[in-house]
Amino acid sequence: MRTPFVAGNWKMYKTVAEARHLVSELVPGLQAINKVERVLCPPFTTLLAVRALLEGTEIGLGAQNLYWEASGAYTGEISPAMVAELCQFVIIGHSERRTYFGETDNTVNRRVQAALEHGIIPIVCVGETLEENEAGRTSEVVSRQIREGLARLDLVEGNSIVVAYEPVWAIGTGRAATAEGANSVVCDVIRPALSELYGESFAQAVRVLYGGSVKASIAADFFAQPDIDGALVGGASLKADEFTGIVQAAAA
Ligand code: PEP
Repeated sequence: MRTPFVAGNWKMYKTVAEARHLVSELVPGLQAINKVERVLCPPFTTLLAVRALLEGTEIGLGAQNLYWEASGAYTGEISPAMVAELCQFVIIGHSERRTYFGETDNTVNRRVQAALEHGIIPIVCVGETLEENEAGRTSEVVSRQIREGLARLDLVEGNSIVVAYEPVWAIGTGRAATAEGANSVVCDVIRPALSELYGESFAQAVRVLYGGSVKASIAADFFAQPDIDGALVGGASLKADEFTGIVQAAAA
């Protein structure tokens, strides 16, 4: 049995004061739903404040990126140890990082390795662009992102990573994938690629999320799918009632 998992990616939204306000709205509702692993991934600058507010709750905290080097002259970067001081999770390879900041399967791999070495659970994002989708290349692209992004790692326990299938064309567009279509990518592409790398029991134990324009009103359709174990939520995670509704749907 894979425990449902819902994470909110706040992207580059919320100052410290705004983050405190959103967390205070979220905590009562999220605390009441204990069958789902729930995680907030706010911006770096708010992690300390959010962590203080989450203390004593079972809500996890995640960063949105990290750099693989331990320390050094890397202006503007955040090391794995810095993230590990505050967070249990980190988003790696989000399509916005791939599109705007030159993230590749190779840099995803290095970041994932660094996260694992520091005991941080990476939420590894994969997904095809609209162009790739329309060219019928979804399987090839997603399979490559898994095989290269997760290559050569010391992975044994399925719960040491989380994978998010996020078709790029569905992120922030209001145009979610169909639940059945997303499930078939997870079942026919992502789990087989994980199995090829680390064996079938590992592949069956990994939580695989769907991400891309998830809202409370459609979340249940995704969670009803046998291979989708939760959601990575962007825009809707900035609204307390929407995000809580998505977590409630995962609990049901
Ligand atoms: C995301 O940022 O990972 C995401 C899925 O965004 P949205 O829910 O806004 O599409």
